[in-house]
Amino acid sequence: MTATPLQFCAVSGDASDPLAGRQHPESAHAYRTAFQRDHGRIVHARAFRRLAGKTQVFTHRDSDHFRSRLTHTIEVAQIARTVASALRLNEDLTETLALAHDIGHPPFGHAGEQALNDVLMQHGLRFDHNLHALRIVEYFEQRYVGFRGLNLTLAVREGIVKHSRDYRLEEHPELAAYFLDQRPPLEAQIIDLADEIAYLTADIDDGIESEILTLANVRANVPLFAGFFQDLQAIHPHAPEKLLLHEALKRMLDALVGDLIATTRSQVQAAGVQTLADVRACPRRLVAFSTEMEAQRRQAKSYLYQNLYESPELLRDHDLGGEIIRGLFAHWVRHPEQLPVSHATQIASEGAPRVIADYIAGMTDNFILAQWQATQK
Ligand code: MG
Repeated sequence: MTATPLQFCAVSGDASDPLAGRQHPESAHAYRTAFQRDHGRIVHARAFRRLAGKTQVFTHRDSDHFRSRLTHTIEVAQIARTVASALRLNEDLTETLALAHDIGHPPFGHAGEQALNDVLMQHGLRFDHNLHALRIVEYFEQRYVGFRGLNLTLAVREGIVKHSRDYRLEEHPELAAYFLDQRPPLEAQIIDLADEIAYLTADIDDGIESEILTLANVRANVPLFAGFFQDLQAIHPHAPEKLLLHEALKRMLDALVGDLIATTRSQVQAAGVQTLADVRACPRRLVAFSTEMEAQRRQAKSYLYQNLYESPELLRDHDLGGEIIRGLFAHWVRHPEQLPVSHATQIASEGAPRVIADYIAGMTDNFILAQWQATQK
């Protein structure tokens, strides 16, 4: 394979790069780049630490081995950095975006996001975890005397907004600073697919650990995994199944990452893209899987939906999480005086529904359960 680096498409992050600029100007650090500083700001943020107490897929655990949203985030960061490194993109920016990618997620995983969106829609509002992540880093985190928020670089804020989807300026005039008519840099485009690679492989692992999935069923329905498992079994006919499972998952992950790197490189070349400006002007995102791997990815994902995410066990968790969030939201709409003082004062400017949703979105699973139990007395 000819390794054509894409370094001319990378975000430089140099002192002269507008993408390394901050809302509140700061002098250069003696030995850390702008994105290394943002990496530190995310890792030291309270919202980042709370990811340890938030559901990735499994809420009610009878094992300590399942992914939390924090360990999932670290897996995404490892994968995203590998891809950025192989393509000679900006590794510090990519890893920072990966670490921030789920920082706006509420408790109870996607059930929480859906429930918050449902209750806000009754008030003409919406909940979107990317936009909530931006509110966290721009407003809720308080680490500096002179201003609210983490004062992150423009590149990191743009990437937080656009890592998984594009927004239209007509619908989101508040995002005008983030080049909505242009594609995000490749560093930001990597994140969504690194996220997919991380959870497709991890959820097979956790799904089998939970006994909701069986190895035999995964082998029969996920050809990408089954091929690697069969190869390994031929080489190690007497190896324990658990070890074959783990190694087959590693190979599956590696195959997805390798395909993503090779396909992205060839898509960039085929589109004649040579600079970051070309990446931005391109009508579509360039970070992608090959057609064959994309078919495998879709197949694995739909298997996980049908057999894991929509299994009776996880649907029960999903329903309970939604019920708790809807119940607490309604409780605080009736009793805003019971909110912490810092939130109560914000109601005047933002309205109770948004403030209550922000408060709930920041909670860990355990904290929201305790709040729920307190209102049930
Ligand atoms: Mg994620």
